[in-house]
Amino acid sequence: SSKKQNSVGYKGHSMLAPFTAGWQSADLDPLIIAKSEGSYVYDIHGKKYLDSLAGLWCTALGGNEPRLVSAAVSQLNTLPFYHSFWNFTTKPSLDLAKELLDMFTANKMTKAFFTNSGSEANDTQVKLVWYYNNALGRPEKKKNYRKKHIYFQVIFHRYHGSTLVSASLSGIPGMHQKFDLPAPFMLYTDCPHYWRYHLPGESEEEFSTRLAKNLEDLIIKEGPETIGAFIAEPLMGAGGVIPPPATYFEKVQAVVKKYDILFIADEVICAFGRLGTMFGCDKYNIKPDLVSFAKALSSAYVPIGAVLMSQEVSDVIYSQSNKIGIFAHGFTYSGHPVSCAVAIEALKIYKERNIPEHVDRVASRFQDGLKAFSSSPIVGEIRGTGLILATEFTENKSPNEPFPPEWGVGEYFAAECQKHGMIVRVAGDAIMMCPPLIISPEEIDELISIYGKALKATEERVDE
Ligand code: PLP
Repeated sequence: SSKKQNSVGYKGHSMLAPFTAGWQSADLDPLIIAKSEGSYVYDIHGKKYLDSLAGLWCTALGGNEPRLVSAAVSQLNTLPFYHSFWNFTTKPSLDLAKELLDMFTANKMTKAFFTNSGSEANDTQVKLVWYYNNALGRPEKKKNYRKKHIYFQVIFHRYHGSTLVSASLSGIPGMHQKFDLPAPFMLYTDCPHYWRYHLPGESEEEFSTRLAKNLEDLIIKEGPETIGAFIAEPLMGAGGVIPPPATYFEKVQAVVKKYDILFIADEVICAFGRLGTMFGCDKYNIKPDLVSFAKALSSAYVPIGAVLMSQEVSDVIYSQSNKIGIFAHGFTYSGHPVSCAVAIEALKIYKERNIPEHVDRVASRFQDGLKAFSSSPIVGEIRGTGLILATEFTENKSPNEPFPPEWGVGEYFAAECQKHGMIVRVAGDAIMMCPPLIISPEEIDELISIYGKALKATEERVDE
């Protein structure tokens, strides 16, 4: 098996490059992407790749949507910047808020706040939850009242962002170790990954019941009055593409509601059609108090994130009896007019082209086509819904028998995909795909074909 060591790292094909981790410098050798078109990107040498990750789970409308470009140019020519604070705002900022509030119907939302990213949106959420409880006068009753947030256990690569607070909300050990994180006001609860964590003979419903019970026990142990919010993605994305097990959100929402704890839905990946419904909350019948967006909000053409708050939260924060002053929080670029103009156009396109319905139509081709590879001896689980999916490679189909990390099985598969002209996301031995929502049936067939070739090569490699 020494052959398997260092089996990856094709020079010039270093999508693998965890060493760059976003830092740019001349002595590294990353794959340089120079152009995009529909579901494809091209590197500086002109090699074409099917972008099965839509950038970073975000270029929902593909790589060259002219209407988004026109929206940006037109706004740049009219008003490249003005801010949205005090008694000032801009029309794009107001119009985008109205549009987003109208579109999100899972719960009645009444106010929108714009950020530059999903991380900033989630940081804003935490401050909002604290502010809300302060406005209710809760700290007077008990010190530290409701300053804790519940979120899932640190197990897999669960991800809510990279800033200090959003990284604390992320269950990725590497994002905590050496950074003195997570922040002390965070609590973990179980990761709802049925395949990995269910007990022998336990059904999905029973698994969800057990997790909801554990959550309730945790709340009681900590003291319900110390807990401000529960945060979850409708479908866990970067944490490994983990669809919630049957009845999970029904049961968890009941617990959270019982103890008067706010529910934050992180829709950064799931929103705007990804799961075949306009929002992830629609798919799983989630009624959040607060929602975060980013990524596909502008199809990633410009940076923008958003937070929506419910009528109930808004009523507290904006009530006459709120004596604690303004919610002192905001960014220079909150509601940036160019970002908002592009986002307004993106939302128009999602609706006009009925993107959720398109996703729903092509989802079975994508899901069934890839899940047909589940019988491969090196595949543990293939999971997903809509246009998002992960493959996890394990020995003996068992979640408890990972391949030795030094074999780099996931990285080998990803490198093979890249060789054949497709980019996938690799995290250990999990491979994730989240293609542009405009992907055509023919492109899905191509994606499946490249996946098949990469899988065959990886099976042979593991067999060596
Ligand atoms: N929340 C989720 C669910 C995400 O997937 C991400 C990014 O991948 C974030 C938040 C952070 O967003 P950003 O990278 O825009 O800060």
